[in-house]
Amino acid sequence: MSIINFAVIGYGGMGSYHAHNLIPAESTRVHVAGTYDISGERQQISQGKGLRIYESLEEVLNDGNIEAILIATPNDSHKEIAIKALRAGKHVVCEKPVAMNTRELDEILAVAEATGNVFMVHQNRRWDPDFLIIRQLYQKKTIGDIFQIESRVQGANGIPGDWRHLQKHGGGMLLDWGVHLLDQLLWLVDSPIKSVQADLSYILGDEVDDGFMSYITFENGVRALVEVGTTNYTKLPRWYVKGLEGTAKINDWDLSGEIIAATGREDVPAPAPIQAGVGLTKTMAPPSEEATERIAFPEPKADFVPFYQNFYEVVREGAEPIVKNHEVRKVMNVIEDIFRASDKG
Ligand code: NAD
Repeated sequence: MSIINFAVIGYGGMGSYHAHNLIPAESTRVHVAGTYDISGERQQISQGKGLRIYESLEEVLNDGNIEAILIATPNDSHKEIAIKALRAGKHVVCEKPVAMNTRELDEILAVAEATGNVFMVHQNRRWDPDFLIIRQLYQKKTIGDIFQIESRVQGANGIPGDWRHLQKHGGGMLLDWGVHLLDQLLWLVDSPIKSVQADLSYILGDEVDDGFMSYITFENGVRALVEVGTTNYTKLPRWYVKGLEGTAKINDWDLSGEIIAATGREDVPAPAPIQAGVGLTKTMAPPSEEATERIAFPEPKADFVPFYQNFYEVVREGAEPIVKNHEVRKVMNVIEDIFRASDKG
């Protein structure tokens, strides 16, 4: 079956990553036929790398050689570009966050439905090795039933770039990183949400959030703390996950960390009191050596195909998308809940 020709719309940081890394990595299925960016400077850079330059979005959409577009423009422009492309008969891959809110997403989905063209959101962090490890622990119950998940990313560099500082472009860290962490969490925990508490931070004085903390509970009993920070000069682990029979900690994307699991042995000595600060404690003493063991992380393998392979199979073979639009919509709903919860205090 023939290769799908893509045009990349928005040849900035992420658009160029798609153009030179992600799409070429699936070169038997997808191909970058050209790019379009409103910035003359970015157009020149793309041309300098040997890519064909389109002078306008309309030129892309009128090109019968282009079967799909990748949208990697600021968040407030996704909707308009997606709808125009779908109406022009193109399939669409859209960067996250899919749109500014659920209402915009619904407008896109209505056009996708009416035209029959594929619309898929690039929730790429479902393929992150650290997440794949947590997913296996959760599904295989390696540390027993997981009941508490802490998922955080923390940096010390503030909000990056220009448009991410502005509300009108859909800036802020909840829409930027929050959408990744929430997509992972909601994909992992297959249970309705019971409650959402949240607090957005505005430490840096921007009109958009520079981070947030949210506490989400699910009807199956799982509780999750999701946190994004951009003013953290030293950081907490990327994942801290508690199961009934063990605890897992992944420090960072380098996959350092540990899993400590209960051995289940009954013939273990009771923990002895330890000196703790100016007091004594047995409660907080480390478990005896016989009571716990260190387990190796599972291989961070995905039991699903890479993003662009899946997109190709969805378009050519009618396969099921890995990133489903109703899941994307659910995440957008929770983002709106978090904004509301934070506003309400
Ligand atoms: P960026 O500022 O580096 O690039 C955006 C580009 O779009 C710029 O070159 C700009 O000139 C161009 N542009 C703006 N409006 C346009 C329009 N109407 N038509 C054509 N070009 C236009 O931003 P970025 O970091 O690449 O982010 C772009 C999108 O990708 C955002 O939605 C962002 O959330 C997403 N993103 C996703 C990931 C991920 O891991 N999935 C990572 C980074 C960014």
